[in-house]
Amino acid sequence: MEECPICAKHKGQVPGGLIYEDELVSAHHVYNQSGETFLGYVRTETKRHVPSFAELTLAEAQAVGLLTTRLSRAFFQCASADHVYVFFYGDHVPHLHLHIFARYPGTPEEYWRNRVDEWPGSPKGGANEVTAFCERLRASLANSMISIH
Ligand SMILES: [Zn+2]
Repeated sequence: MEECPICAKHKGQVPGGLIYEDELVSAHHVYNQSGETFLGYVRTETKRHVPSFAELTLAEAQAVGLLTTRLSRAFFQCASADHVYVFFYGDHVPHLHLHIFARYPGTPEEYWRNRVDEWPGSPKGGANEVTAFCERLRASLANSMISIH
């Protein structure tokens, strides 16, 4: 059995650092090792190794929902997104993780949904820009009106 990549990642460093973490869930910005990183793609993950929503405890379900809501608000507030996508697939890695994408104003319709990060006009950057973007998201989460507790 190969180790689950999400469990492995939870033991190591994430570029840009964790945007949020508590005992049940965490969130980080997805970093592209092989080129420019689209600014506006974060993942919410459970700490526990569970394959899908069906296995969540009540507390985990609440934590996933609240964190996803707060990250969505942060995309509107500090990234000027005009829409936020939340995807769950669960086909390849049986450890619950949600893909949260900002869609920026002016994104042509052929790039909507799961191609939103491919639009050439979307903001992209390297490690420094990802780190700065994560700091803005953290600040926005800290000012969020809804508490996780
Ligand atoms: Zn796992």
